[in-house]
Amino acid sequence: MEHRALPRLAAPAVAALLAVTTACTGGTVQGRPGASGLRDPYFPKAGNGGYQVEHYALDLDYDPADGVLHGRAVITARAEQGLSSFNLDLSGLHVEGVDVDGEGARFNRTGNELTVRPADDVKKGRVFRTEVVYSGRPKALTDADGSREGWITGEAGAVGVGEPVGSMTWFPGNHHPSDKAAYDITIRVPRGYEAVSNGELRFRTEGADGRTQFAWHSPEPMASYLATAVVGPYKVTTGRTPSGVAVYNAVSPEEAAASEPTLARLPEMVEWGSGRFGPYPFGTAGAVVLPAGTLAYALETQTKPVYPGAPGDESLVLHELAHQWFGNSVSPKSWKDMWLNEGFATYAEWLWDEDHGGPTAQEHFDALLAGDTDVDEAADAGWDAFPPADPPGPEDISASPVYQRGAMVLQRIRQEVGDEKFFGLVRGWAADHRHGNASTADFTAYAEERTGHDLKKVWDVWLYGKARPK
Ligand SMILES: [Zn+2]
Repeated sequence: MEHRALPRLAAPAVAALLAVTTACTGGTVQGRPGASGLRDPYFPKAGNGGYQVEHYALDLDYDPADGVLHGRAVITARAEQGLSSFNLDLSGLHVEGVDVDGEGARFNRTGNELTVRPADDVKKGRVFRTEVVYSGRPKALTDADGSREGWITGEAGAVGVGEPVGSMTWFPGNHHPSDKAAYDITIRVPRGYEAVSNGELRFRTEGADGRTQFAWHSPEPMASYLATAVVGPYKVTTGRTPSGVAVYNAVSPEEAAASEPTLARLPEMVEWGSGRFGPYPFGTAGAVVLPAGTLAYALETQTKPVYPGAPGDESLVLHELAHQWFGNSVSPKSWKDMWLNEGFATYAEWLWDEDHGGPTAQEHFDALLAGDTDVDEAADAGWDAFPPADPPGPEDISASPVYQRGAMVLQRIRQEVGDEKFFGLVRGWAADHRHGNASTADFTAYAEERTGHDLKKVWDVWLYGKARPK
């Protein structure tokens, strides 16, 4: 594993320097520019330094007929240093104006960076409000692995998906998972369309202008890659799980019949997950089933995963649900920690099988070692290509080792410590890092402390070892 100093770690030294300068001149403390990236090992320009966002209020107006988005983002953030300027990530679109604390701010754009210069420096520790008014036709991005993300349009609507950086195509923000915030996303669309986003639907109003407004509220912290906005002629059904979690499903009409059997099991899955991993981390659950052909993958967008057509396989729904604990509530500190998302979600599929008459987790593990695709269809997908905690590059963060070998790491821990300590570890991990961020180093230290076992061999061979484990 590679440790890189984040710019904000260097802040005390610089702050000390500024303090000395101030003492000499007797002037006020001056801000300095916030960093334009967080030096993520795979996406170094993603995110921005110098502040942490507390809340995003996104007001979006979208017309599927011409694909034009009019947006107003109000970003409430806390300055972690004195700021003479700071950056937001935004790809494409036209910025019409930026205000900071109600005063017009200067701004300029280079690549995917929107640099904002407030009229007055923002003092360290201050909570400040940035308003960005923008518009244009948002676009999709193509990732290093060839998959598409960002704002994706279909025949009769659009969807915003953002893993790892695509959310910058539809709103300005601090687009790195280490900066989580609460969200209120309001979407106006022509009458007849549904607009779906994360969290709870606060209200839906029909305007005199022939447009319908949907106000969505996400009180729990969310990484921006998990934000979504979906517009289209969806069929909506609502319900509750037995323990009272609200369920909101929006399904493309042509996928409705095929989606019904698997989505009908979602409430049961939420209850099962709560038993296995601890309380469900959010106030709402659900699903968005896109028209087939819109997207090539499912994504665990917070509280409402999106599916690329009817999820025929219940383990897919279980996988995206498991991310609500692992990835969405406990989020990675950097994209190098992706196995903490995908290894756990894959392992959750194995546990679901184990608890429902399918192969046990040990049988999945053995099948992967033996290449037996009858038991686990991913057994020949190349789980041994690289160690899960050290993908070679950004194009590898969604490859099989991050998923299958990540799950095998968890099974190896279970073999070492036994069921009782293992499930205590899994629940403890979800509870102690609930709504936070954690790294691979946090996990290995936590696992040893929690179970009282020395697990160095598991880390050396399974998590970091380049050779194929036997
Ligand atoms: Zn996943």
